[in-house]
Amino acid sequence: MSQFEATLDFARKMDAQDVLAPFRNQFRFPQHDGYNAYYFCGNSLGLQPVTVEKLMVEELNDWAKYGVEGHFNAKYPWFSYHHFFAERLAEIVGANKDEVVAMNTLTVNLHLLMLSFYRPTKTRYKIIMEAGAFPSDMYAVETQVRMFGYDPADAIIEIEPREGAHIIEEADILSAIEAAGESLALVMFGGVNYYTGQLFDLKKITEAAHKAGAYAGFDLAHAVGNVELKLHDWNCDFACWCSYKYLNSGPGGVGGAFVHERHGDNPEVFRLAGWWGNDEKVRFQMKKGFHPQKGAASWQMSNAPVFNMVAHNASLEIFKEAGLPALIAKSKQLTGYLEYLLKQLNNLSFTVITPEDPTRRGCQISMLFNAKGREVFEAITAKGVIADWREPNVIRVAPVPLYNSFEDVYRLYEVMKTV
Ligand SMILES: *Cc1c(COP(=O)(O)O)cnc(C)c1O
Repeated sequence: MSQFEATLDFARKMDAQDVLAPFRNQFRFPQHDGYNAYYFCGNSLGLQPVTVEKLMVEELNDWAKYGVEGHFNAKYPWFSYHHFFAERLAEIVGANKDEVVAMNTLTVNLHLLMLSFYRPTKTRYKIIMEAGAFPSDMYAVETQVRMFGYDPADAIIEIEPREGAHIIEEADILSAIEAAGESLALVMFGGVNYYTGQLFDLKKITEAAHKAGAYAGFDLAHAVGNVELKLHDWNCDFACWCSYKYLNSGPGGVGGAFVHERHGDNPEVFRLAGWWGNDEKVRFQMKKGFHPQKGAASWQMSNAPVFNMVAHNASLEIFKEAGLPALIAKSKQLTGYLEYLLKQLNNLSFTVITPEDPTRRGCQISMLFNAKGREVFEAITAKGVIADWREPNVIRVAPVPLYNSFEDVYRLYEVMKTV
């Protein structure tokens, strides 16, 4: 017998027992006919924390009040602005404070980190990635390969699901890495695939890459703030992410990067430099000669885009308060409930292509429709559900533990039942 029931009463009972339920009030929901929309798009764009507005106004006031002196006198001095994120980000990705930095945006960071960790030679130049990766990742990898004069068709090995399957077998990734062996320069994988919601085993992938003599780097766009990460202990070489999905830091919000301390603290590791990556003690001496500061922060080029980072500050505070382990525990329940309810639907014809095993997914469920997916999507949208449509036939929904309720999930089911 299931632990769940397909009733509104049950959903409300779950909400009443949920210690994280009050966090919902710390976010602004789009409105539909005068009530909160059923928002399931936190994997595309997280909701706005209520505190952002106040922090933004404070920052504007500090700029007005101090002008250039705000670099040192503002409440969060702009000179040090990126420092305010390190501890909270490190907690979220499982790293030391010096191994992470908030900077740039995701694809930019991917390029910068590849310039450090994709250093192909005549014999070792191949990159392994997942088939069906997010397009920006495909373009980044392809153009890096071309930049060094290699042919993407030869240099990029994509790991595909087996015939008829939707998710990639972990064993196929590991055996491809082993088979590529000495020709392999880099494994660049997503943490959670954006389309299927499959969570990959970063630890095993990293181990296999290292055994082959290659580096392992990860795009954590859909993993950060969603699943447990231990980038330091897993020995990952680098990772990057964006902050506007599960980290709720607003459209185009500042990205993040991880560089393992064995590289970050090694000045011999190549990095493109700018003044903000230079040792802070000598930054304003304006002299020749780049002296990288400790850790991932030395990959910074420019001074911090403060207004872009305000929402990040607000949102990470909420994560700290809620605690990622508690969020992940709720996430498993919430996604489990959604999965259970979807199985009760017999009026629609779709396949869930997200792994059933809760340890191989985050909070997303992707439904592949056999037909009329677009019509279903439009019908549920008209009823106040904000979900996500992906060509050719997939609806993705993400019940986010920070602000979605069991009742939200139940309402989605109710709406789908009447389509
Ligand atoms: C969302 C997403 C991106 C977006 O990249 P930006 O540089 O932030 O625009 C890239 N890769 C993956 C895997 C994503 O999910």
